[in-house]
Amino acid sequence: MTSKLPNTTTSIFSVMSKLASDHNAINLAQGFPGFESDPVLIDLVNKAMKDGYNQYAPMPGDKKLREVISKKIESLYYKKYNADREITITAGATQAIFTAIAATIHKDDEVIIFTPAYDCYKPSVELFGGKTVEIQLQVPDYKPDWKKVTEKVTEKTKMIIINMPHNPTGMLFSEDDMLQLQKLAEEHDLLVLSDEVYEHIVFDGEEHQSAAKFPQLAKRSFITASFGKTFHNTGWKMGYCVAPEYLMKEFQKVHQFNVFSVNHPIQKALATYLQDEENYLSLPSFYQQKRDYFLELIKDSRFKFTPSNGTYFQLLDFSKISEERDIDFADRLTREHKIATIPTSVFNENNEDFKQIRVCFAKTDSELKKAAAILNSI
Ligand code: PMP
Ligand code: GLN
Repeated sequence: MTSKLPNTTTSIFSVMSKLASDHNAINLAQGFPGFESDPVLIDLVNKAMKDGYNQYAPMPGDKKLREVISKKIESLYYKKYNADREITITAGATQAIFTAIAATIHKDDEVIIFTPAYDCYKPSVELFGGKTVEIQLQVPDYKPDWKKVTEKVTEKTKMIIINMPHNPTGMLFSEDDMLQLQKLAEEHDLLVLSDEVYEHIVFDGEEHQSAAKFPQLAKRSFITASFGKTFHNTGWKMGYCVAPEYLMKEFQKVHQFNVFSVNHPIQKALATYLQDEENYLSLPSFYQQKRDYFLELIKDSRFKFTPSNGTYFQLLDFSKISEERDIDFADRLTREHKIATIPTSVFNENNEDFKQIRVCFAKTDSELKKAAAILNSI
């Protein structure tokens, strides 16, 4: 059998979580919170199950949940998405991203992505015969150079995928970045896939610049979101996609045969829980405290860093410690020092010199303290 993805190997998240478990290491690698979701939300899921929401949800998702999402987006980003025709509830953002790509990418289409790039974009594009065109984000601020992006656009370019707050660098797009993207996408008639799973995890008083806020951009964008990141339950695999009707129609043609519909009782619970805006507006200060606590603990270590502006990830530069490749360094940290991290060159296949590892600080203070003690000893 000829592989459809000959260059794809097992995801680094599976690799590092297994290594962490095999070596009894603290797992700051795969991004998931080390604490529980709100018991109120868990009770709401139990209630929905007891109330009998145990059969298929409607294909686009629970109507109430879509209405609440529509209201949330309108209040945060001043853009109204039609709950019936422009919103679909998905099995996490991963399925939303995959479905948006499946619905739009034809053989030989080019898709621009920024590296380091989250690992699911490239294989998803390649599965449908597309080709990713990679643009390197540069140290220290990892901001896109829009002139370079423009130079990479050809008549085959179909889509640009952006992700902000950015995994793994923690970079945010400014309003000006979004305006430049909007201009470029309009001029070349491009689709945009805006992966905004960390929209509620933004620090230092900065604002998340959702594609929804820019009318000419929103007209050509799929926006993907993840409840797992926002409500500390990545294992529930719940998310959503919003897009204008002409795009959502194509999205749903795929969604109905890709999964048909997703977990019904959890949708019912989220429809109630999401109505209390404090449940997501409290996130920036919650995670900023964690970031600051952790970075204060490791400030005298030999790792160099610039504080992350968003997400629950922090890059650590180890160039003062070792000349190893980041993959070897991360492997050795797990085996010898009992701390698992992500080597970032896996998001960055063109750049082997990337001497950075990624740590997840969505952990309890006591776990962060233990992790910091190890990092300080290296
Ligand atoms: N996009 C990015 C940038 C992510 O970091 C993740 C997961 N951490 C996803 C998409 C996938 O989200 P989900 O777990 O909801 O599928
Ligand atoms: N998105 C998470 C991360 O960046 C992992 C998700 C996964 O394991 N697929 O760590």
